[in-house]
Amino acid sequence: METRLDEIGARLERVKERIVACAKRVGRDPAEITLIAVSKTFPIEVLRQAVRAGVRDLGENRVQEAEAKIREIGHGDVRWHLIGHLQANKARRAVRLFDLIHSLDSIELAKRLERICVEEGRAELPVLVQLNLAGEETKSGASEAELPAIVQALSRCERLRLIGLMTLPPFFAAAERARPYFRRLRELRDRLLAEGAFGHGRGELSMGMSHDFEVAIEEGATMVRLGTAIFGARQTSNEPVE
Ligand SMILES: *Cc1c(COP(=O)(O)O)cnc(C)c1O
Repeated sequence: METRLDEIGARLERVKERIVACAKRVGRDPAEITLIAVSKTFPIEVLRQAVRAGVRDLGENRVQEAEAKIREIGHGDVRWHLIGHLQANKARRAVRLFDLIHSLDSIELAKRLERICVEEGRAELPVLVQLNLAGEETKSGASEAELPAIVQALSRCERLRLIGLMTLPPFFAAAERARPYFRRLRELRDRLLAEGAFGHGRGELSMGMSHDFEVAIEEGATMVRLGTAIFGARQTSNEPVE
């Protein structure tokens, strides 16, 4: 534990350098890429250390686990991102706790979140639609075919603001193989952007994890979600499969 706390700052710097180098290589402005440090399974000391080291965006995949962490650390320095599947019965707590939700994947969930925002007096909740582009049984996320109807439903939700798309491609040892999924997400984003689905926003692309974020940045990622690269290997099995 001691070593890991000591290492976080240096690991974070290395990751940031890789993001900058990769962005420059493909002619992108590194400033348009948000680094989300994925702190799931790690204890609060680790998150505090990350915040001390300059992390301003933290990602958690379970509402229950995130609750204590968010109450402890608060929202002053950190934006909290829900990146895991959201069950209907956790929706209210998610609305109370998180700044952004990356895992909106159905019309029902959109309607529920909208209703809860009204009930809780939350004026605005930024959301990303999660797509399961490979149609994997084990993963949550909407299919491409469902996307237009979800976007249409969101346009009728006054409190929810669609800010972008998120995906979690199949795991490949060779990161290059994830490229077609990242590229597809960008194409879908570009189409929605042209249709005005993101209002004045640029249409965020939440894609890329520790082993494939450089490929994702090459394909246009604006939010990369990195756990292992910053915090080291997770002890428990809390993998992105839902
Ligand atoms: C765990 C998780 C990540 C981070 O994974 P690493 O490989 O540790 O970087 C990113 N996105 C989601 C949705 C996750 O659940």
